[in-house]
Amino acid sequence: MKKVYALREYCMNCHLCEVYCITAHSRSRDVWKAFKREDLRGTHRVLVEEKWPESLAVQCRHCPEPRCVEGCISGAMVKEPDTGMVYCQEDKCVGCWTCVASCPYGAIRPGHRHGKPVPLKCDLCKDLPEPACVVHCPNGALVYQERGTGT
Ligand code: SF4
Ligand code: SF4
Repeated sequence: MKKVYALREYCMNCHLCEVYCITAHSRSRDVWKAFKREDLRGTHRVLVEEKWPESLAVQCRHCPEPRCVEGCISGAMVKEPDTGMVYCQEDKCVGCWTCVASCPYGAIRPGHRHGKPVPLKCDLCKDLPEPACVVHCPNGALVYQERGTGT
């Protein structure tokens, strides 16, 4: 399946992937409104980790046998059979955070959106043609590719 891969050597630690991830998951899909009106600051699903002088954007690996799906107590976290994408059906999430504890990559953070608990994890921007972090990275440090690592 196609996944987002980070190219460490091109990352500038600008955090624009985080900004546009938040925007892509907002109601308005507008940067200013997402931050100022919808109060979505901090709800990014990609996380730029920094260990000077290097930085790297970390996100869900959409594992072939995802522990977050296995551990989810409400059936909210699912792996789509056709695409292999792992995502949370937010209306079913009860905020137990088992998925957060289960992920071996630390790719899920506990969060809230519009007053409801939501696990913050990459869903490959499933409602958009391409992941927003890839589209908006100013230095090509994120790529969306099929690398034959299975689904
Ligand atoms: S959240 Fe973690 S365990 Fe779940 S599919 Fe992604 S990388 Fe795998
Ligand atoms: S693919 Fe979409 S959801 Fe995943 S980290 Fe990038 S912007 Fe966020």
